[in-house]
Amino acid sequence: MNDKRLRLGIDLGGTKIEIIALDPQGRELLRRRIPTPHGDYRGTLAALAGLVRAADRQLGRAGTVGIGTPGSISRATGLLRGCNSVCLNGQPFKRDLEAELGREVRVTNDANCFALSEATDGAGEGAGVVFGAILGTGVGAGIVVQGCVLDGPNGIAGEWGHNPLPWPADGERPGHACFCGRSGCIETWLSGPGIERDHLAATGESASAKDIAARAAIGNANCAATLARYEERLARAIAHVVNVLDPDVIVLGGGMSNIERLYANVPKLWGAWVFSDRVDTRLLRNAHGDSSGVRGAAWLWGAQ
Ligand SMILES: [Zn+2]
Repeated sequence: MNDKRLRLGIDLGGTKIEIIALDPQGRELLRRRIPTPHGDYRGTLAALAGLVRAADRQLGRAGTVGIGTPGSISRATGLLRGCNSVCLNGQPFKRDLEAELGREVRVTNDANCFALSEATDGAGEGAGVVFGAILGTGVGAGIVVQGCVLDGPNGIAGEWGHNPLPWPADGERPGHACFCGRSGCIETWLSGPGIERDHLAATGESASAKDIAARAAIGNANCAATLARYEERLARAIAHVVNVLDPDVIVLGGGMSNIERLYANVPKLWGAWVFSDRVDTRLLRNAHGDSSGVRGAAWLWGAQ
């Protein structure tokens, strides 16, 4: 295929906006990062347009524009919702930015960008169905099927973080209150703050998720036990996904994805809940790390 397009990918976060340009082979041609104008919708649009125009000038031609945001665009209203930069919520963001730039813009949420980046040329490259799960401050996920983001009528495909932790033990019911208004959500167990709270409840000691993992690795029994509980819960949460979607690959992102032992241990556990006599799903660490947001946004215009 003779694809000469330059793809601009933008990660619009609450504190920073990052832009990259990719050539058709996925090589990074430029990268810039600026602070997000705080609480200022028009200012955010102007900042985005400025970044795109500067990139066009530097590259000598106009690139396609894909944007990842924390929220999603309602298919019914065309308005952005669920953004932690609340000034964007309820705004016709895509339409306004397209008017500003004079070109079509593709927008999706950042978990979808993560999944698309890893499915295109990351850990899930070549896989038919990729479930990309972010285990960080929160828990979210996106689904990519044959290279395309699965975007349902509600724009929430893959968002299993606010489903309840499946097959809960008695001690896990009703679970912790979640900001979403329910209790026992997967996010309350599998996020970074979730493992820290579980460790505190079991041992009485406060430790960061990173410290728990580091101390488990050098033989601390309490930390190893906390990680073992985490792995068992992650296996259950993933088994639920496998039973519904049966993806080829599950790629993990976010801070918790740095814990190396998950990739060997969780697949040994999930067979207890997957409704199959064998499980060939692969559980993989992301290849692009923190760059998956911008890279996936760029790939919203398709890979070669
Ligand atoms: Zn919740």
